[in-house]
Amino acid sequence: MTAASSIHINMFGPHPLVVHGSAEQKSQWLPRLVRGEDQVCFGVTEPDAGLNTTNIKTFARKVDGGYRVSGRKMWTSTGQVANKILLLTRTAPKSEGKKPTDGITLFYTDLDRNKVEVRRIAKHGRNAVDSNAVFIDDLFVPNEHRIGEEGKGFTYLLDGINPERILVGVEAIGIGADALQRAVRYAQERIVFDRPIGQNQGIQHPLAECWLNLQAALMMADRAAHLYDAGQPCGAEANGTKLLGARAGYQACLQAVMTHGGMGYAKEYTVERLLREVMIARLAPVSEQMILCFIAEKVLHLPRSY
Ligand SMILES: Cc1cc2nc3c(=O)[nH]c(=O)nc-3n(C[C@H](O)[C@H](O)[C@H](O)COP(=O)(O)OP(=O)(O)OC[C@H]3O[C@@H](n4cnc5c(N)ncnc54)[C@H](O)[C@@H]3O)c2cc1C
Repeated sequence: MTAASSIHINMFGPHPLVVHGSAEQKSQWLPRLVRGEDQVCFGVTEPDAGLNTTNIKTFARKVDGGYRVSGRKMWTSTGQVANKILLLTRTAPKSEGKKPTDGITLFYTDLDRNKVEVRRIAKHGRNAVDSNAVFIDDLFVPNEHRIGEEGKGFTYLLDGINPERILVGVEAIGIGADALQRAVRYAQERIVFDRPIGQNQGIQHPLAECWLNLQAALMMADRAAHLYDAGQPCGAEANGTKLLGARAGYQACLQAVMTHGGMGYAKEYTVERLLREVMIARLAPVSEQMILCFIAEKVLHLPRSY
């Protein structure tokens, strides 16, 4: 997960640029990203908005030739090493738009450390990639760094999220599959009461369930990825992959720790680390509650609850 994160942030973060950037922007920025000459971080989440993204406060004020941006971002991954930032801002207050998503503008710009302070957050896992609180103070962003039209940034952002959700779900399935393999090996080797612990149904059945859940999540991932590649709507399946994959991965890691008994707590057997690393897939890039709200509203056509 840690290694994959260091790569996938550069792939999915800037996806709105791939879809909505001008030909000039793409030829100027994308080859540098692909060659690893630029590293981009993804500035969406804010401390006071949370999952209610339309409540962001970071504001880009129009001035001659560009914008002056001030505000705060939270959890910005790779902010310590990035030289670019995909930055979501408001260019008009929420109250002035017809829809809450109006008035949001997206930029791809330089992370000028004279104007942006990046403070590292100490955290539970995924430590190959830094996470940060970001403070932006009067950063000048030229017009040429705006992606697409002013005020339409929220819709551009949506283009990157489905593939990211599929990927994160699959990463969690991968961690879970590794944990399951380790648990099965230990269950075969560890002898207690004169027999392998894996001969007991109390050990076998939870592991068998983990296998089934991982397989089911992988099938959902396969379906979501096929739909995405075919250019068809895949919101339900992509969100479903994220939720099912993260839960199946988490359950397998937890069960692997339990199967190892006390040794599950020892670093030597790695499963405690897998449990730590899989946790992030349940929390980000979107929470399970928000996914369930999405399915309830968009698939089951129940009234929006929030
Ligand atoms: C390690 C890490 C890396 C990250 N990297 C980035 C990054 O690079 N860029 C970036 O922009 N963001 C990043 N994030 C942020 C991440 O996307 C958010 O943490 C996540 O989307 C949840 O938002 P929040 O923490 O503000 O939760 P909150 O919005 O504070 O929600 C807290 C809890 O309340 C629940 N909740 C809220 N409203 C409702 C409701 N109406 N009904 C039911 N439940 C509700 C949520 O589901 C959640 O469980 C990262 C986070 C982490 C932990």
